[in-house]
Amino acid sequence: MSCGYELCGKIKNLTPYAPMEGEYRIRLDANESCFAPDEALRAEFADCAAKAAYNRYPDPYAVELCRAFAEYYGLPESSVTAGNGSDELISIICGTLLQKGEKLLTFAPDFSMYRFYAELYELEPVVLEKDASLTIPVDKAIAFINENNIAAVIFSNPCNPTSIGLSRDDVRRLVSSVRALVVLDEAYMDFWDQSFLPEVQQHDNLIILKTCSKAIGMAAVRLGFAVAKPTLTIALRAAKSPYNVNSISQAIGACALSKKAYLDARRDELVRLTGILYERMCGLAEKFPVLEKVYPTCTNFVFVKTAAAREIYSRLFDYSIAVRNFGEYLRISVPAPDQMEELFAALADILVEMEGKA
Ligand SMILES: *Cc1c(COP(=O)(O)O)cnc(C)c1O
Repeated sequence: MSCGYELCGKIKNLTPYAPMEGEYRIRLDANESCFAPDEALRAEFADCAAKAAYNRYPDPYAVELCRAFAEYYGLPESSVTAGNGSDELISIICGTLLQKGEKLLTFAPDFSMYRFYAELYELEPVVLEKDASLTIPVDKAIAFINENNIAAVIFSNPCNPTSIGLSRDDVRRLVSSVRALVVLDEAYMDFWDQSFLPEVQQHDNLIILKTCSKAIGMAAVRLGFAVAKPTLTIALRAAKSPYNVNSISQAIGACALSKKAYLDARRDELVRLTGILYERMCGLAEKFPVLEKVYPTCTNFVFVKTAAAREIYSRLFDYSIAVRNFGEYLRISVPAPDQMEELFAALADILVEMEGKA
């Protein structure tokens, strides 16, 4: 028997997140690290998992984990909140620090989850389009925020998907010129040197998000962090669900984050490989003008403008290579060296064939 239950308006037309379908040998579509933790570290993880107190709830404040994170980045522990991925923290911020109907400013293009949570929590999403340079228009944004009663602004720096970064000076100017909450997503900042983390204590209206999913190479364990001054940190800890990060992820994350030399070396290698990816992509663009522009990158991926984006994206599947396609752009995560060779062999094939047809 049914009494006619109906979903409410905001959820009615939502569909579950659709991950990439199919199995691909070379996955360059999600900006994960191309390096898994090495054997020695995996053995330590196994030990962490074996020692977990399985019948007990996790530490609600993930103290050891937050300490390891704070030490790795040189921050006070009291400024750190752990989340089940930074994704959960974006959800908590949108759902609890903001109220229904308040305006959340985002830029386009930027990470799609910001808009998703804004809509889910019935905020009013407001979007400023970036111009052809794809940089964030800082002065325009400051004026816009102050003139339009914007409650919060969120953006990724460096930006996913554009691979472009905003300097620390520009970030400082933005944060200190608005009363709105600024949520600065530094998911890719390990690959660049303009982190605003050292200045987080100086701003009451700032939350910086970090993740273990990219440079740290641990997307599987789902660990993200919010860094902010005490008032905001206490609010986030109060608002989150008590056991949001499971004990095994806490232990494994604390173990990984204590390996500073190892993590730094891995990060440096990813930066080096991304430089090669960028150079080779620029070389390809010189030969094949259909690749209109390769954007400078301070991340672990490249962003390419091409009218043939859709076709190249689809044809790469024939080589079992997955990248991301956004309209007339391709986003390609940095591959490990052997996969880099395969990527460029496939791209050369595809572009030669397309040229023959043109
Ligand atoms: C990948 C990514 C994240 C990380 O999300 P997690 O939930 O921590 O895996 C956050 N922000 C941006 C912009 C990203 O690209």
